[in-house]
Amino acid sequence: MPAFPRFAPQEAHHLPEAFYNIKADLPEPPPPALHPGTRQPLTAADWSPVFSRGFIEHEMSRERFIPIPEEVRKAMALYRPTPLVYASGLRDALGTPAHIFYKYEGAGPMGSHKSNTALVQAYLATRDGLTTLVTETGAGQWGSALAHAGALFGIKVKVFMVRVSYRQKPGRRTLMEMFGAEVDESPSPKTRFGRTLYEKDPDHPGSLGIAISEALEVALKGTNSRYSLGSVLDAVLMHQSVIGLEAESQMADYGISPDTVIGCVGGGSNFGGLAFPFIRRRLAGGPATRFLAVEPEACPSLTKGELRYDHGDAAGMTPLIFMHTLGMDFVPAPIHAGGLRYHGMAPLVSRLAAQGIVEPQAVSTKTVFDAARLFYKAEGILPAPESAHAVAAAIAEALEAKRLGREKIILFGLSGHGFLDLNAYAANGKN
Ligand SMILES: *Cc1c(COP(=O)(O)O)cnc(C)c1O
Repeated sequence: MPAFPRFAPQEAHHLPEAFYNIKADLPEPPPPALHPGTRQPLTAADWSPVFSRGFIEHEMSRERFIPIPEEVRKAMALYRPTPLVYASGLRDALGTPAHIFYKYEGAGPMGSHKSNTALVQAYLATRDGLTTLVTETGAGQWGSALAHAGALFGIKVKVFMVRVSYRQKPGRRTLMEMFGAEVDESPSPKTRFGRTLYEKDPDHPGSLGIAISEALEVALKGTNSRYSLGSVLDAVLMHQSVIGLEAESQMADYGISPDTVIGCVGGGSNFGGLAFPFIRRRLAGGPATRFLAVEPEACPSLTKGELRYDHGDAAGMTPLIFMHTLGMDFVPAPIHAGGLRYHGMAPLVSRLAAQGIVEPQAVSTKTVFDAARLFYKAEGILPAPESAHAVAAAIAEALEAKRLGREKIILFGLSGHGFLDLNAYAANGKN
């Protein structure tokens, strides 16, 4: 195999013109979302009080390719294409014959992949004449990505932030407020559902499910406001396909494609975004690429959860979604990977795991932080604790290749940087 340069070409033409929608290629799509009251499949009319019209069109579409609006492509061009890095430092550190590449989404404006869908959602909302988007955030990456996108496209953003994270990471709040967003600790006294918990315990740590219920309640109360979600939904995974489409085209410049694709999974969006364009090839009879979805042992929705209908929030307000779930009232231990502490998993990722195309893996906190420190020293980038789950699996794959003496090609998603997660690193060992 040739010697690979450190950075793959990063040219305007690598940024795709259209999103890839894997639903067009699934022999059997996942069962539809159901109305929480009637338990009938949801129609566009049912969705319309919740999401913008443009977003609903994306969510329901079965088209294989959906054009990226010109305004969104222009906004994405501020940071895309993102780097496809040849992990030469990590390869040397491991002494492996494997070729390891990572797609570095930490180069995005708020340091994670979340801006890819935030920009689309903010644009669609303004195009549909809305004035406000309401959302929740766990660790703060999603809230800050939507706050940034809202500021760019001129739409008001309100964020309910899970209380434990809000107190652990006050800097994230500052970032959101600098973009003009309104930020509340959740559970808050501002909503009917939040008050039921807040009045019993003003220090209630909160959860993503609770914050979603509060955001939905406020979005539904407003006249020109809608709700916005940063993961799980089909449309969000489709927006994230820019990651995999770029990687595919950057690797094609070398005449290669990956043997193994790895991503961390919280709701499943960065993994789906990276993997789906490559899964398309496998579904079409192409190479037998492996796809590893890596989650924390402390929140093991794919490896331990049940595949069934469940609500997306804690109050039972959202539609019933057919997915791998730990149960809507599951409150995970406070691990330092806020973005991976969700009880459910994207229906599309759940379906591909049930088909055996996606291989789920759960890793321990210690394995994750050891991997992150090794990566930091070898590559000079501190991974987000979420992304470090993918790093850990990539290292294990590279060491397996070493044992077998194989020169295989590994591609993993480095979904974000960890330079705002130093508390987590301080709390999890030294070197
Ligand atoms: C939010 C987040 C995740 C988890 O969300 P997915 O939808 O599974 O991608 C992973 N990594 C980072 C850096 C995040 O911010």
